[in-house]
Amino acid sequence: MRLIIMGPPGAGKGTQAKFIAEHFKIPAISTGDIFRANVSEGTELGLEAKRYMDAGEYVPDEVTNLMVRNRIDDPDAVSGFLLDGYPRTLAQVEELDGMIKFTGHSLDAVVCLTVDQDEIVARLLQRAQVEGRADDTEDVIRNRQRVYLEQTEPLISVYQERGIVHEIDGLGEVAEVTARIFEALDIIPES
Ligand code: ADP
Repeated sequence: MRLIIMGPPGAGKGTQAKFIAEHFKIPAISTGDIFRANVSEGTELGLEAKRYMDAGEYVPDEVTNLMVRNRIDDPDAVSGFLLDGYPRTLAQVEELDGMIKFTGHSLDAVVCLTVDQDEIVARLLQRAQVEGRADDTEDVIRNRQRVYLEQTEPLISVYQERGIVHEIDGLGEVAEVTARIFEALDIIPES
């Protein structure tokens, strides 16, 4: 299974990614989590990424692509993976296509979580209090939403043309949303 979960910041991608990954016994690969781990470890990659993350901007494609390429080469990702937060730009879509094609597989599905903008801001501000993320202030949240709409939302139609997008209503209880995702995904044959 090679899956992507997409949706605006705060749509609940990370939460749902964990359940999907457990269900299909594949790793959930979150570029945001990998960047944050690098920031807290003070690595060179972390130092580079931090400037962009703090402003709600995207980390440059070359940096992100290389990081993902290395991660999906890890042994635990050989039989499949779920990407959370990647691809976010058209250049990343093309790069990912190349990586998957190289292994002789194909992308099975793209789960798109849909949610209301105002609901999202409320969720993110709450998360800021709980997790203390530096990029969860209202200004930065609004910037992340703007960047998402400009750069990432257009990718959905690219995958729609391939017929692999499953739009899932992201509003409601976490378990309800998970059930909707499983219902959509369980019918996909493994490749
Ligand atoms: P959210 O889901 O709330 O947008 P993430 O945890 O996925 O947040 O990402 C946090 C930040 O990490 C992004 O705002 C961006 O700066 C950086 N980032 C994550 N994934 C990518 C990516 N694929 N390309 C560029 N930057 C990324």
